[in-house]
Amino acid sequence: MAKNSKKKKSYRLTHIETDVQTSNQTSILVIYTGGTFGMDYDKETNSLVPFDFSKILEKVPELKRFDFNLTILEPFPPIDSANITVKHWLEIAKIIYDYYDEYQGFVVLHGTDTMSYTASAVSFLLENLAKPVIFTGAQLPISTRRTDARENLIAALEIAASRKNGKPIVSEVCVFFDYTLLRANRSSKVQSMNFSAFKSINYPELAEVGIHINFDYAALSSPAIQPLKLYKKMEKQILRLTISPDMSQELTSSILSQKNIKGLVLETFGAGNIPTTKWFIALLKNLIDRGIYVYNISQSSGGRVMQGHYKTSVALAKMGVISGSDITAEAAITKMMFLLANEKSSKRLKKRLAVPICGEMSL
Ligand code: ASP
Repeated sequence: MAKNSKKKKSYRLTHIETDVQTSNQTSILVIYTGGTFGMDYDKETNSLVPFDFSKILEKVPELKRFDFNLTILEPFPPIDSANITVKHWLEIAKIIYDYYDEYQGFVVLHGTDTMSYTASAVSFLLENLAKPVIFTGAQLPISTRRTDARENLIAALEIAASRKNGKPIVSEVCVFFDYTLLRANRSSKVQSMNFSAFKSINYPELAEVGIHINFDYAALSSPAIQPLKLYKKMEKQILRLTISPDMSQELTSSILSQKNIKGLVLETFGAGNIPTTKWFIALLKNLIDRGIYVYNISQSSGGRVMQGHYKTSVALAKMGVISGSDITAEAAITKMMFLLANEKSSKRLKKRLAVPICGEMSL
């Protein structure tokens, strides 16, 4: 048993009447947080508003045909994921932790805008997963004719319930969207107008859903053997700075001299390069001298940071900027938020930023 206490908050749970046979003990918990997925047209205003999710069966009658138990949990009033906060992330992770022994898999319905951030955060907050946690959502509301919500939900549920030799096939946090399963902390939203909203960055897709669900077993994480561990804190004082050519010294210095910065995610050019102007190097050096962690990630989604490869990144390596290799911005930010709150030793923290802790980057 995990050490953390399982003091459950009471939530509204809706059990869906499926065609489950009593012999099938599989139960999946769906955590509904909001987003376009659960929207319906308000008859009076003709605008999109969240619909009563406990009536999901009216919108997706196919759910009835699942041969496993299905329960829906609504942790908070549905939100547009642009309004997601660290508090929500901690709550979602805690729910999964609290209900971990009762369910064989979890599906989290979430808005697409920040899904990769939430899913990455949850991947760090839950250590030693041995069960699937599948995030999904939709580009078109469930109430619209051509919605992708139905397909995404049904396939995500099938993946969450997929087992081989009595064990779950997936044992990590994933994003499922448009027939593809991606590692959560490798995913990024790349489209807002068509159905393939997410891409796996620098890592293979974990499964492709066609007539069959084809898992890439070599790419999937192995289930942990140690007990699940929940982390309950994240550090918010992390700044993300995307550099651009000939940045204003005045503006950049005023941002970087803020007192409360604890970590900086620096989005550099190409393989991790920066303009080598004296003032910019001095500013970064000053941050490091103040004990602020600086994490170098690339603006190019393909490829990786290689500090020292070009002369324009030599100074970074020398002053102690940590290379994020091929990590996504979403994973880099949430990883820093996670490590800065939970890792006490500064030496270990720097080391862990530079290596994968749950599949989020390559060495
Ligand atoms: N703004 C919405 C959200 O992220 C978009 C979506 O769900 O696709 O909540």
